[in-house]
Amino acid sequence: MSNPTEKIRCDACPVLCYIKDGMTGACDRYANRAGELVRVDPHIVLDRTLAHGGGVVPFGSRSEWDGGLVAEAPRFVTAIGAGTTYPDYKPAPFIISTELDGIDMVTVVTEGIFSYCGVKVKIDTDRHLGSECATVRAQGEPVGHVTTGEYGSQMLSLGGVNHLTHGAKKEGRITCETLLDLCNRKPVTLTIDGGATVVVEAGKPPIVNGVPEERMRVGCGSATIGMFARQWFGKVDEVIVVDDHITGVLSEHQAGKVLGVRETGIRMNGRRSTPGRYFSVAEPGAGWGGTNLTDPLAIIESFDPKRAWPGLTLFMVSTTGEHAAYFELDDELKPIAKPLPSAMADAVERIRENCEPALCTVLFMAGAGGSLRAGVTENPVRLTRSVKDMLTRVTCGGAPVYIWPGGGITLMVDVTRLPEDAFGYVPTPAIVAPIEFTLTLADYATLGGHISEVRPAASLSPRDQQLVGPDETNPWPLDPAPRGTKSL
Ligand code: SF4
Repeated sequence: MSNPTEKIRCDACPVLCYIKDGMTGACDRYANRAGELVRVDPHIVLDRTLAHGGGVVPFGSRSEWDGGLVAEAPRFVTAIGAGTTYPDYKPAPFIISTELDGIDMVTVVTEGIFSYCGVKVKIDTDRHLGSECATVRAQGEPVGHVTTGEYGSQMLSLGGVNHLTHGAKKEGRITCETLLDLCNRKPVTLTIDGGATVVVEAGKPPIVNGVPEERMRVGCGSATIGMFARQWFGKVDEVIVVDDHITGVLSEHQAGKVLGVRETGIRMNGRRSTPGRYFSVAEPGAGWGGTNLTDPLAIIESFDPKRAWPGLTLFMVSTTGEHAAYFELDDELKPIAKPLPSAMADAVERIRENCEPALCTVLFMAGAGGSLRAGVTENPVRLTRSVKDMLTRVTCGGAPVYIWPGGGITLMVDVTRLPEDAFGYVPTPAIVAPIEFTLTLADYATLGGHISEVRPAASLSPRDQQLVGPDETNPWPLDPAPRGTKSL
C-alpha cells in the first residue's frame, strides 16, 4: 500500500519524475492521486452511435459491462489518454479484443513518445512567405524551414529530431511546444527569415503579415489562360495572368492560338519558357500573383509597333482575382488605365468563384518503426512486415494514416481528423501521439504479440474514460479496408 505523503515515481517516460500527492509530473499527463499514479486526461473511446463533436459522455454512463466480450455499441478504444509504457519491452497499456463479423480482432493501444517527428504544413497562398530552405522561427527559435512549394501552396517542414535534440535546450523546448500547439490545432505565429510572419492554425485560413488569406489561386498563370481563354475570346484583345511562377499571355499561349487570337506584338519581361508562358517576370512578394508587383505594367517591356495597334485592349489579372486592371493602348502604344468593363468584371468574378478557400493543413509525421513496436510484439520486425503486408492497420486516435513505403513505419496523419487535444509531450523533449495497431487475433499471435495481455474493451474500468462520436469523414477503424487500398 503506497503512502500518500510520499512522492511516487512516474516511469512512463525517461524523465522518471518524482511526483508529490496532488501534483502532476513535468508533462502534466500523469499525477499522484492519493499515492496512485494516474493518467490525468480522459481515455477517449470512439462510439459510432454518437454524433461527431456533440457526444461526449462518461464511459460508464451509457451501459455497464454485462460480462460479455462485446460492448453494446460498436466502439473503438483509441490511444488518446491511454498512457505510455516505459521501457518499451513492456506490453502496451491496452491490448483490446473485439469481435468483428465473427472474427476476433485485437487493437494494441499506446501513446507513443516520438523524438523523430514533425509536421508538414501546407499554407494555401500565392504570397511569397520565404525562400526555400529559409529558417522558420517560433518565439525567435529555429523550428524548421521552408520547403518545396506546391501547386497554390507554400510548404513548411517543422520539427524533426535535429531541432528537438541537436540544438540548444531552448530550441528543443520551443520546437516541441510549437509542434504540440500545431497538432492540437492551436494558432501558432511563425516568422520566416527574410520573409513573412504567418499565423498557422490547422483547418483555418493563414494570416500572412497580419492579413487573413481568403483564396487559394485557381491555377498558375498558364493554367488560368487554359481554363478561361474561350470565355475571354472576343471580349478583349490581350490577357496577361500575372503569376510569380508561370505568367500567361493569351495571344501567344496555345489556347489563344487554337482560338485564333490575333497577335498583339506584346514583349514581356522575364524568361520565356514556351509560347505564352513566362518565368521570373518579377521578384516574389506579396503583390500581384505572389510577385512583388504593385504596378503590373512593370512586366511589359513594350509593344511591337508592327503588330500592336492604338485602341488595343489589355486585361491583366492575378491568379486569385484579387488584383485586376484594364488598359487601352493610346496612339503611342502606351497602355492607359480604363475602368474594368462588365465582361472583364465577370471574368474576375469567375476566377474568384473557382478559387478554393485558403486553409492551413497540418500533417503530423512520425516514425513508429522503433522501440514502441516492442509494446506490441516480442519480435518488432514482424509488426513492421505486418503493417507493410496490410495485415495490421495503423490509426492515430482512430484517424486514418498514410504509411510511407520503404523501411520503418513512417506515418502521416491530418491532425484535424483526430479528436481534440489528442497530442501531448514529454520534456525529453518529444511529442506524445496516440497510435493504435489493429489486426486479427490470429495474426497477432503469429507475429508474437503479447497474447496474455489481451482483454475485452468492456472489461475496461469506466473511470476517467469518455465516449466521443467519431469524425464521420474517417473510415471506421475496425471496418475492413476497401480492396486495393494500399494504406489509409
Ligand atoms: S514527464 Fe510525464 S510521463 Fe515522463 S516521467 Fe514525468 S510525469 Fe511521467
